[in-house]
Amino acid sequence: MTDLIAKLATVLQPVGLATILVYLYGYFSRSSTDIKITQIIMGVVFGLAAIVAMASPIQMSSGVMVDLRNLFVGISAAFFGWRGGSITLALTVLTRLGIGGDGVLVGIVAASISGTTGLIWHHFISPRIRNIFVSLPILASLISLHIAAAFLLPAPLTALIMQDLAPVALIFNFAGTGIFALLIYREIALADEENRLRTEATTDPLTRVLNRRYTIEIYGDRVQGKPGAKGVAMSCIDIDNFKKINDVYGHLAGDHVLVSAARRIASCLRDHDLFCRMSGDEFLIIMTDVHAQEASAISERCRAAVAEAAIDFDNQSIGASISIGTVWASQAPAFNQFRNAADEALYRAKSMGRDCSSFAVHRNSLLSAIPASALA
Ligand code: GH3
Ligand code: MG
Repeated sequence: MTDLIAKLATVLQPVGLATILVYLYGYFSRSSTDIKITQIIMGVVFGLAAIVAMASPIQMSSGVMVDLRNLFVGISAAFFGWRGGSITLALTVLTRLGIGGDGVLVGIVAASISGTTGLIWHHFISPRIRNIFVSLPILASLISLHIAAAFLLPAPLTALIMQDLAPVALIFNFAGTGIFALLIYREIALADEENRLRTEATTDPLTRVLNRRYTIEIYGDRVQGKPGAKGVAMSCIDIDNFKKINDVYGHLAGDHVLVSAARRIASCLRDHDLFCRMSGDEFLIIMTDVHAQEASAISERCRAAVAEAAIDFDNQSIGASISIGTVWASQAPAFNQFRNAADEALYRAKSMGRDCSSFAVHRNSLLSAIPASALA
């Protein structure tokens, strides 16, 4: 009995460690936008867990040792793809080589089988079989195929392993796969939910561009904090005669025009420009590190992009245009001050007959701060 408890305690050490590490996965997948980086970190983390597992194997009564390294390799490949799996496998193989002894080849083959089968599950089983009560037992069975590496040993030892080790390894693989998978799925669900809430809080549900509240919230950090050497610009955009579009083609068509216009405008912007829907048919662009001339050219490009072709909806071609008022400043003014100035420029564009862009330099900007080329 005490022997069994001791074996259980030995096996739980790496499982406990890996459980903590799965929580780390949750942390990285929430804070890193790049899944590749999370996969690489988790490959290292599961590799370290495999090394800990190798340091505390269970001694079977027959003198054969069993540990959970292959479970870690298989799980890593199954959930973190080739990036995570190959790193975990490399760490496991290198450690096994360092330990040395007669079983090196068998150990390397077994770990490679686990990594390969985990990867097969990652690419071919998991995307096709959504029911985890079917897909997880398949994963556990695939990872357990590593036991077949024992056939590389002399026949008497193979028989001993099949009799003593295989049943225990199977139980560990099935239980371990279940525990890890559920913990990882839970972390994935939490990360998805957090991302969904973040997107909901920061973007406009119809056009998927930034929303007004979030844009005002980040203005201080992203614009006033990092204006760039060239200056900043703000453009107020309003769709022309949008009420008429709604009246003639219907509200759904109006929604489609909003989405299409937003997409066309976004395609004219640089990666670091902020683009937001303020309300109704009104949008705002904030450009940092931009010369006056560049800002004027970008806003004119946006106007042309909306006007150049009709928007198709439900077998109808809807002609739409926008008016833009752009204000450039050498230093970022307070949000409301900047917005009022851009609004005045927009008003001028509307009064010039619509489908127009109007440009101004903010009154707080010294004209001497504008490069001569920008005013040419
Ligand atoms: P102007 O050229 O002067 O801008 O004329 P306009 O008709 O576009 O006038 P205004 O900008 O004031 O009209 C905005 C209209 O946008 C009023 C409202 O019915 C409509 N609107 C606001 N939000 C939505 C929306 O989410 N979907 C649709 N389809 N219409 C909306
Ligand atoms: Mg309008």
